[in-house]
Amino acid sequence: MKIKIFEVNMYPVNTYLLIDENKEAVIVDPGFYTEAEQQNVERYIKASGIKLVGLINTHQHLDHIFGNDFIKSKYNLPIQAHLGDSFLLEEGGYLRARKDIIGSHRICPIDKGLEDGELIRFGGSELRVIHTPGHSPGSISLYSKADSCLISGDCLFQESIGRHDLPRGNMRDLMFSIRQKLFALPDDTHVLSGHGEPTTIGHEKKYNPFM
Ligand SMILES: [Zn+2]
Repeated sequence: MKIKIFEVNMYPVNTYLLIDENKEAVIVDPGFYTEAEQQNVERYIKASGIKLVGLINTHQHLDHIFGNDFIKSKYNLPIQAHLGDSFLLEEGGYLRARKDIIGSHRICPIDKGLEDGELIRFGGSELRVIHTPGHSPGSISLYSKADSCLISGDCLFQESIGRHDLPRGNMRDLMFSIRQKLFALPDDTHVLSGHGEPTTIGHEKKYNPFM
């Protein structure tokens, strides 16, 4: 599996394009905010002859979903995410309240709920969904055992952890998710976070000051 990273929007978020050897790919957290960012990924997909077969969100905070409508419409894909974050999308919910930032971007409902332990397959690749609540109740991480790689969303960062002061965030859940679920993975697992630089599970066990 090859991984292409797009750093997008003003927060800035890491959008990951996971590309299987047979050229099927899934996109995680399409944070594309501007037309230029949208065109950039579109051009990349076209030029590399990839077939985009999946759209996944690690959670439903606005910086991770700006480009959902664009990808969903352009490639005719359902939005896959944990339903624990649905409340953020509701009328009167957190995201609607941030109209100043959301602007003309359409907020889309989750089309397919993902559960802890569920396997997402594309090409010859496989991702396991790990429910890692705390930053938000519906936060998930995605683990590829074959590639020793974890997409951690905003749960775990290089020498840092996700915020727990956003709607229905929970410090205890966040700590449990990291300690019991992510730190159970092999030390050499590469961790690709929603923001910032990559790290490994082993490095975080040793050096993360919040743990
Ligand atoms: Zn977030």
